[in-house]
Amino acid sequence: MIEYRGFPEVYEDSINEGDLTVFMARDDSGDFLVFIEKGETRKVPLNHESAEILRKLFPFTRPSRVLGKERSFGTGDRLGIATPGHAKLFKKYDAYPVFAQQSMRELNLTNRSYSDVLDAASFAVFREGFKKEWGADGDHLKKAEDIRDALSLGYTMITLDCSEHIKNDITESNAPPLPQHYVDKYLGKKFDAGEGLVLSFNEDELRKTAAIYGEAISFAAGIFKEFFDDGKYDADFEISIDETLTPTTPLQHFFTAKELIDAGVALNTLAPRFCGDFQKGIDYIGDIKQFESEIKAHAIIARHFGYKLSIHSGSDKFAVFPLIAQATGGSFHVKTAGTNWLEAMRVIAAKDPALYREVHKYALASFEEACKYYTVSCDLSKIRDIDTLKDEELPGLFDLDDSRQLTHITYGLILSKRNETASSSYRDRLYRVLRENSEEYALALEKHIGRHLDLLGVKKL
Ligand code: ZN
Repeated sequence: MIEYRGFPEVYEDSINEGDLTVFMARDDSGDFLVFIEKGETRKVPLNHESAEILRKLFPFTRPSRVLGKERSFGTGDRLGIATPGHAKLFKKYDAYPVFAQQSMRELNLTNRSYSDVLDAASFAVFREGFKKEWGADGDHLKKAEDIRDALSLGYTMITLDCSEHIKNDITESNAPPLPQHYVDKYLGKKFDAGEGLVLSFNEDELRKTAAIYGEAISFAAGIFKEFFDDGKYDADFEISIDETLTPTTPLQHFFTAKELIDAGVALNTLAPRFCGDFQKGIDYIGDIKQFESEIKAHAIIARHFGYKLSIHSGSDKFAVFPLIAQATGGSFHVKTAGTNWLEAMRVIAAKDPALYREVHKYALASFEEACKYYTVSCDLSKIRDIDTLKDEELPGLFDLDDSRQLTHITYGLILSKRNETASSSYRDRLYRVLRENSEEYALALEKHIGRHLDLLGVKKL
């Protein structure tokens, strides 16, 4: 922070001098913008109107399409205060961030809107003077109306969630008969995906695969036609088939991709569900050797069809990042989200132990409710009784899987909880502590997300 033009606390990287000088400053009540023109100084609050003005005046505060870049990385920012830390980090790395990235589930749980999420990202980008391209992702959308909302606000990427159209309960014994056009197209043929990967289907596998993915493929093709065909919206299109009960085999991936592309869908990325467990907020659980061989096949298929592989629930998967980097030849999209919240809570545990203790107990009490939204292997009996922990031991809870997951999945309940005894909710109190410690929070994010980028082999600039 520097003193500038009569304001004691100005974000140095936000200063844009000219006939019209604009910068961001802060005082006790928070951040605000300053516009100086012809000797006249105006203080402007951060709201949707001023975000629109910034996006008009400064193109770098508008999101761009980044999935076409070799290395893109979804950071997300559930609380709307993590992007400054992300921006500082991505200035230093040769990868393109997606700062705004929320699913409908996250919007509902945090009581935010797509407009608010994008505005918060634009303000953070302006404040940090982040001049590289960055993206905005309407993540895991399932309905045309939500896609239209996000695109009309200027989101530069849509992640279509096909999970409701994927029929996981189909097995070889209950799959309906195979339509003749699939028989003609696939049976008895070999498909050379290149790099030594040749795929072929037997009848049972093909019948099962067509039955599981057929409807999802038509759904994705319909959405593509409605929103992306003929450049209707200038945005990237990601197809996600990851939120399902069973992993996507390379053969199923190939079939889905071939059908999509033959239907004229131009996809930028596809997110399969990988083998093993990609649980939220903790490292990979599963057979590393199997993962290595399957991700190689998935990456070859993606290259064959000309899109990038997208890795969802990518936070904290340190054990497999080098394998992802290798298999994809350094061309990937990796999404993280909740891990920023965990770093925020680590800061809370260090800076306001009393508040952390309260929230931790509330999280324990609401764990069962939170399990309705997320699948985790968290074992509450492995979390030490917080009353036996000293204050300085509290941040260490964020080095342990069970306590990480406890805090991870209860975020929505914590943020929406109204507290009867205190004058404000947890949400207000958490935001206040994080704002007062914004430098610490930014540093924690730089370190934590930086470790992701390092293991993914992203070079420093
Ligand atoms: Zn996903």
